[in-house]
Amino acid sequence: MAKEIRTIGVMTSGGDAPGMNAAIRAVARACAYYNVKCIGFYRGYQGMIEGDYCTMTARSVRNIISKGGTILKSARSADFRTVEGRKKAAANLKEAGVDAMVLIGGDGTFRGGKVFSDEFDIPVIGVPGTIDNDISGTNFTIGYDTALNTVVDAIDKIRDTASSHNRLFFIEVMGRDAGFIALNSGVGAGAEEILIPEEDLGLDRLLESLKRSKRSGKSSSIVVVSEGDKIGKNVYELADYVTENLPDYDVRVTVLGHMQRGGTPSCFDRTLASRLCVKAVELLLDGEKNVMVGIVNNRITFTSFDKDFKEAHEINKELLRISDILST
Ligand code: ATP
Repeated sequence: MAKEIRTIGVMTSGGDAPGMNAAIRAVARACAYYNVKCIGFYRGYQGMIEGDYCTMTARSVRNIISKGGTILKSARSADFRTVEGRKKAAANLKEAGVDAMVLIGGDGTFRGGKVFSDEFDIPVIGVPGTIDNDISGTNFTIGYDTALNTVVDAIDKIRDTASSHNRLFFIEVMGRDAGFIALNSGVGAGAEEILIPEEDLGLDRLLESLKRSKRSGKSSSIVVVSEGDKIGKNVYELADYVTENLPDYDVRVTVLGHMQRGGTPSCFDRTLASRLCVKAVELLLDGEKNVMVGIVNNRITFTSFDKDFKEAHEINKELLRISDILST
């Protein structure tokens, strides 16, 4: 029989994402609702190793639903990759009376959670929190929608200056292995071209497309480039290449960088975080463990930690076709 859960721990790990605070709030409030103690660990696995934690009550999470970042801080912990580090974490959890954990983060966080749970028999539930949306088993990750809106807003602003000066802007957005942000923000902001890691469109095609744009009367252009674009050149090299081959263009580069992680979470992300985290607490209380909660076709689902979360979460290539048609 599964042991009774009297205290649930929560932490945020990996890259921070807007909506993580809404997630923490939902864990703390669901615990209060079900009369379970809640403990928040700072800096992800590192806080578990160092015993850095606080008690969270329904009131201690007041007014955080609208805040970006994470009040529990986030970190990547090299120590947690070692057995010694994980032993320390397990000892600290025991001392704090923590029976189970909610882990908010990306696929790395879930891999760590699985190793930890297997070694020390501590039930864990994962909640997908990352702006990249690169996790299978869920249609959306917490933070992705806000990041998209941030990127679209930034591109709109760059478009103003691009069209005032007849410039071509290369805009680099986050997404080392996945083009979700580039593809969706590119379509949403009306970019002329979108370069993503999943699809090698080739440099020739890029030049052709830009020439076509110019011929069709466009005086400015936006190319959205994912960090991990498959052409294999970074955004500055791409800009140099286009300058060499299309000297008529006045080319500029903008790297949006960490601004994409910040800001007030969208309503979508707050609601997603709230739904997933209430379910995470309920699953633990029902004796479930080692699964990630996700949302598929607007229903909450859960996926075993045995799954490779990087696998089979494919981008919607239809959007590339749409982008081609609409950038005519
Ligand atoms: P993001 O998508 O934002 O990068 P992530 O959760 O994938 O988030 P990672 O840095 O890959 O971020 O993982 C978070 C932490 O999980 C790592 O810093 C490490 O402490 C732990 N971790 C990852 N993989 C393992 C593993 N195989 N064994 C033990 N711990 C791991």
